[in-house]
Amino acid sequence: MTGRRLSKAINIGGVVVGGGAPIVVQSMAKTNTRDAQATVRQIKELEECGCELIRVAVPDTEAAAALATIKKGISIPLIADIHFDHNLALAALSAGVDGLRLNPGNIADQDKVAIVVRAAKEREVPIRIGVNAGSLPPPIDAGQSVVQRMVDAALGHVRILEGLDFNLIKISLKAFDVHTTIEAYRQIAELTPYPLHLGITEAGLPGTGVIRSAVGIGALLYLGMGDTIRVSLTAHPKEEVIAGYEILKSLDLRQRGPVLVSCPQCGRAEVNIMTLAGEVEQALRKVSKPIRVAVMGCVVNGPGEAKDAEVGIACGKNKGVLFRRGQQIAVIEQKDFVPALMDEIAKL
Ligand code: SF4
Repeated sequence: MTGRRLSKAINIGGVVVGGGAPIVVQSMAKTNTRDAQATVRQIKELEECGCELIRVAVPDTEAAAALATIKKGISIPLIADIHFDHNLALAALSAGVDGLRLNPGNIADQDKVAIVVRAAKEREVPIRIGVNAGSLPPPIDAGQSVVQRMVDAALGHVRILEGLDFNLIKISLKAFDVHTTIEAYRQIAELTPYPLHLGITEAGLPGTGVIRSAVGIGALLYLGMGDTIRVSLTAHPKEEVIAGYEILKSLDLRQRGPVLVSCPQCGRAEVNIMTLAGEVEQALRKVSKPIRVAVMGCVVNGPGEAKDAEVGIACGKNKGVLFRRGQQIAVIEQKDFVPALMDEIAKL
């Protein structure tokens, strides 16, 4: 894996982003922001899954008016997503948000941009420039690639902020297309020192969306880029946070909760491993220890194949072998597979 790009560190409501800090998992609330109670409830659920930064859409003054209540009700930093209207940005800052997602070039009056930037600077509130391939300015010429347009758009916004002596900046350059996303991030990483927020936009439903996001975000992380990530899914945002951690865990960049190793099942299996692994996965959701747990379909190959697991079960006919680091420690009845595994995990 390539060494991590050392970006400029910024502080978003107490969470350090960039500068070699652990990669942050974030998500976006999917409630109506105007409904502060529902939004707080959803964010609290996300906090329990490990969400570390949360963004909410602020489409109008009613939504902006809910921000102070939302901020009071949650424990993680709050980022307001604003488009076009500088008054909404000022209202969000007054409400105490910890970050803005705002593209300054999209606000026509640059005097108004300056007012917002001054207010953000006074409060030390960072601004994320978020460029999406789907909403780019028209190309300068027919030969300009989408990547070039994304990078140019981001640089344009960066220059506006820098021109106002503001450098608490984070950048994202998201596209649905993985090649486009990777190339855009590669270029902007060379051109600016700022931390990068990674994501594949509109990635889709969890099945395919997680794969697309894992390929795109995973490739960038492997290349050493990325300071925060969001997996954008057409699903409850808890799925985004869980998927974000799984990506980071796959690359040993973060640890959170158990990792489940399960064999694919073949003709040697004497029990339905798909069902058993699903039950174990469900039970493991309550475990926060960063341990590796294995569910294997046969006693012949199971323990040896999963010897890196702290604890596991290798199933035989009606019975299973409980093992720790590849060594057998007990033989258990099929009905006790999940409870025995969980007992052993609790002892670790
Ligand atoms: Fe087949 Fe056993 Fe390997 Fe599972 S652990 S895939 S049952 S050989």
